[in-house]
Order: sequence, then structure tokens, then C-alpha cells
Amino acid sequence: MSQRYFLPQSPAGTTACLDGDEARHVARVMRARPGDQIAVFDGAGHSWPAVITRIERGQIDLELGPMATESEPPCRLTVAVALPKGDRQKWLIEKLTELGVASLVPLTTTRSVAQPTTAANERLRRGVIEACKQCGRSRLLEIKAACRFTDWLAEPHPGTRLLADPAGSPLLPAIRPVPRDVLIAIGPEGGFTPEEVTAAEQAGFTRVSLGSSILRIETAALAVAAIIGQHGG
Ligand code: SAH
Repeated sequence: MSQRYFLPQSPAGTTACLDGDEARHVARVMRARPGDQIAVFDGAGHSWPAVITRIERGQIDLELGPMATESEPPCRLTVAVALPKGDRQKWLIEKLTELGVASLVPLTTTRSVAQPTTAANERLRRGVIEACKQCGRSRLLEIKAACRFTDWLAEPHPGTRLLADPAGSPLLPAIRPVPRDVLIAIGPEGGFTPEEVTAAEQAGFTRVSLGSSILRIETAALAVAAIIGQHGG
């Protein structure tokens, strides 16, 4: 696979250009030259082989080959999660991107530790782009605005609503056949409070279990993404 770069805007014709960090990476780190072949993607599911035609003043001009369109996964999975802190957060985003999760909602819950801020969300978005470059995905995992759990429950979500809970019923039978849209809420290290669980059930969420061990937030999120990714469609 050619080295992949992110185009923040979809190209209108058969040329495109990279600037900013992406261009610096091509020119300085990869030491690319005119004539070299790379690949670019627009984050909306499209990618192109591209030949570098010019490298000048922080800008890389490209001639694009034929566009490829990535098919949508059979099940669109939204993971709403009380994010862990620091490096664990970064790791979670990388893995959920690799596993094809459609979107992520950072949740604030009663027992949350990491406060979702705009800067933190921006870091998550950068993590998504890096993971897409590495794993070959062309449609970005969408990072939604951070939300209080109880506010999120009140939103009109299309799709099957699940709450990850060690005391729930087993995940796989609960979602067979796997529907087109699935939302799953994953709690903080301290778990959801009984009031939060009751509010979720009243909002139509089914409690589902991933086995008898108590999993870390990111393990629970990854397990759901992998199971649904394998059984969708
Ligand atoms: N202290 C909490 C566990 C929190 S683990 C307790 O004892 O309940 C963090 C989150 O991961 C949980 O809120 C839950 O959403 C999810 N989780 C962890 N283990 C799970 C399991 N075996 N099945 C389903 N969800 C799980």
C-alpha cells in the first residue's frame, strides 16, 4: 500500500494539493520527490492514487488517478463512552478506527474521570486521521460533540440501543440479526450509577454483557466493535 495522506477537502477535478502538516510530512519526513506515487483519501469514503507533480513552499501538488469508493460497513456502530484518560484514550480511538466503528460520543457520567473538552475532542480527531492513514480506512470515525449521559439518552437515536453492563444478557443473542444501526453506551471505570442504568432502561436501552470479567473501558469498547464488526450484515 502506498503511503496515505488526508485531504481535508474533496478534490473537484483530477488534481489536489496537500499543505500544512501533511505536506511537511511528505516533503521532510518521507523526502518525497516529484514523480513519486502516494495515495490520498478525503475522510468521506473516497481515495485516489496520486503522483506528486510539484513540491514548493510547503505545498505538494498532486495529479490524481481514478477514485475508489469504500463500501459502508453492514452495521453502523456508535460507541458512546466515558473516556479513559491520556494514552488509554488515544489507544481506544486508534483501535475503534481500525475496527470500523462509525462514530464515537464522549460521555460525561456521574463517575467520569476525563472531562471531554474541545481541545480533547480535537486530539481525538487527529488520532482518527492517523489511524485511517495507517489502516487503509477512507471514511473517518466521526467524533461527536461531548455530551452528558442523561442528555444523550434523551436524544432521538435511530437504531438498537444497548448499555454495556456486566450484569446484562449476553451481547450476541441480544442483537441477532445485527441491525443496520447500533448504539452502545460504555460506562466509566467506576461503572454507571443505578440511577443512570434506570434512566437508560427507561430510554429503551437493553443491558448487554460481554462475559463475567469486569473489563476496562477500552476492552469493553473493543470487544463490542470486534463482535459487531464480525457479525454485521
Ligand atoms: N466498576 C464497574 C465496572 C466498570 S468497567 C462495575 O463493577 O460494574 C467500565 C465499563 O465497561 C462498564 O460501565 C461497562 O459499561 C463496561 N463493561 C466492563 N465489563 C463489562 C462486561 N463484562 N460486560 C459488559 N460491559 C462491561
